[in-house]
This record gives sequence, structure tokens and C-alpha cells, in this order.
Amino acid sequence: MKTKKPVLSRSYLYKTIVLSTSQLVLAGCSNTMSAKQAEPPASRPAYEKIAEHYLLNTSFTAQGQDERIRFVILHYTALNQADSLAMLTGPQVSTHYLVPENPQWRGGEPVIMQLVPESKRAWHAGVSSWGGWRALNASSVGVEMVNRGYTELPSGWRQWYPYTPQQIKAVSILLKDVIARNQIQPYNVLGHSDVAPLRKSDPGPLFPWKQLAGMGIGAWPDPQTVEKHLAGRAPKQAAVVLEVQQSLKRYGYDQIPQSGELDEDTRKTISAFQMHFRPADYSGNADAQTEAIAKALLEKYRQ
Ligand SMILES: [Zn+2]
Repeated sequence: MKTKKPVLSRSYLYKTIVLSTSQLVLAGCSNTMSAKQAEPPASRPAYEKIAEHYLLNTSFTAQGQDERIRFVILHYTALNQADSLAMLTGPQVSTHYLVPENPQWRGGEPVIMQLVPESKRAWHAGVSSWGGWRALNASSVGVEMVNRGYTELPSGWRQWYPYTPQQIKAVSILLKDVIARNQIQPYNVLGHSDVAPLRKSDPGPLFPWKQLAGMGIGAWPDPQTVEKHLAGRAPKQAAVVLEVQQSLKRYGYDQIPQSGELDEDTRKTISAFQMHFRPADYSGNADAQTEAIAKALLEKYRQ
């Protein structure tokens, strides 16, 4: 909704400018600021009638500010379309965007559902952390994709449901816009399993992170840098566990233990990292290729 700005008369404008400069000198907020410098640009009124019952002086801008939204977090719903929508519009969990399995296309553009405006918090991340940030609902945009997740086979293996090409196309169009508008860094485009690796597996190993990175969405290591850090070792050769733990923590996985042991929490976190950056094997082993990918990402994004 737009608020009408009032037309200020010449005498009123003069009065407010005189008032504002004298007030600033008296307040002495900055010792170096002279009354002359403190005058707002002539093209803008000193006080604007934006709100009711008071005037706002918007002629100064603080340097100390940043974007409220820093992260985008991707999920699968593990439900069909109807159940996904029912769950995400109920009282428990929610998301900013819901991308159907087979989106409608109108005039060449996908129809994506918005359930929460970006200016509000959606409840999608739960207990979560990344790179020193906690409780990421407050600082992220949530994107849920209708996908059934996985079926656990009697052997204990998980059979994952693939994403449809149309859904991935729609998601990529949405993400490009969300990332550009909110100026989200590549290493802050994340899966739920990245920010809650001890309890979440979505969006799972079939989500095509590499394909999206090729379109300028999210982070991906440079192959030659991975090769350099592999340093002639076989990809599956065991790496020093503490080395992998430290690298993943520095990259953002701040829940990973720093124990030097391949304990359960370490294994789950390494597995989450592998689902994102090496989905062909997400066993959670601390191997040379995993270490090399982590170090290549650090070199590219976390210097
Ligand atoms: Zn999730």
C-alpha cells in the first residue's frame, strides 16, 4: 500500500530545515559534523509525512545495517501435493514458497505458491545453524518442493524419489529471483540437511545442486582446485578425521564435533555435506575427496 506524501509549503520547509540543523548541533551526535554538512539535500524534504501522528526525518542513513534475509533453505515436503498444502497452511509449519511437482505454466512462466510473504518469518528450518547463525527462520527464505522424499528398503537402503525436470526448472527461476533481490551469497544457498544435519535429509541426494550451480545458483567447487587438494590421493582413501571436521566447521557446518573421531554426529554431518557436493557417495566416511571438496570450497568462498 502506498502512502501519500503531503505537499510541503515553502515556509514550512524552511522552518523544518532550520529546526533540524540547530537540533543537530545541540545534540552533538558527531563532533566533526558542521551545521553546513548536516543540512539535508535540497531535493528532499527534511521531514516526511510517512506515518500517522509524527513526522520522520529520513535525510540521514546509517552505515551500520545489513540485509535481514541472508539464507535460502530448500526442502522436500515428503508428502503429495494436497497433503503438502494442507500441512504448510496449518498451524505448525510453513514456508515462503511451495513448488508443485508438476507446476502449471502460464505464458511460459511457472505458477509457484507463496504461503508467507518474504517480509515475515516462515516456520521451516526449526533448530538450525550455519556459519555462526542460529535459528535460521528469522534470517532465511524457505522453499518447499513437493517430493515424497524416500522409502526405506528392507536392506536399510533409502530409495529416493526424483524431482521432475519441470519442477527443477521452476525452482531455478524462483531461486534466481530470490537470490538477486535479497543479495544472498552462493554459500548461503542451502538444504535443510546443511543447517540441521543431525536430524534432516532434505532435499536429499537427488536434488541437482551441480546443475543449479551451473546456472549461477549456489556454491560449487572448481574441479581443478579439488584436484589440487586431492594431491594424488585416491578419492576414497581415508583422510584425517579432524582435518575434515575443521574444514566443514569453517565452511558453515558449525554443529560438527571437533573430536578427531568418526562419531555419529560427525558421520551425519559429513553425509549432509556429501549429499550436497558429492551425491554419488554420501556414506559419511571422511575420505580424501570429501576433504579436497571442502578445502576447494573454503578457498573459493571463505578466504
Ligand atoms: Zn525440511
